[in-house]
Amino acid sequence: MSVSIARLHGEACYDCGAVLGDLIPAGEVTHPDSGRVWPIRKCGDHVTGWCSWHSGPATSALRVVVAAANSGPGIRTFACETCREQRDRMPIEDAQ
Ligand SMILES: [Zn+2]
Ligand SMILES: [Zn+2]
Repeated sequence: MSVSIARLHGEACYDCGAVLGDLIPAGEVTHPDSGRVWPIRKCGDHVTGWCSWHSGPATSALRVVVAAANSGPGIRTFACETCREQRDRMPIEDAQ
């Protein structure tokens, strides 16, 4: 399977190549040829199942959370139920 450079650079969903909408950090992949590790991103349709808070697959439903930022909009990520319970004041934003 060939992987486009845009997907490896996180400029497109790693699974489907979508470039529109929010792209969420979805872990890392090791390129089969170079052995180089790339942080990848996925669209909302394909990030489900990956918790970006413990950087692993989630076994529970994911919710969109907003990480605090000193200024400007927070960073939107997905968190599993376990991670949300461990951080009980984690701000939650319902996915639209
Ligand atoms: Zn996708
Ligand atoms: Zn988690």
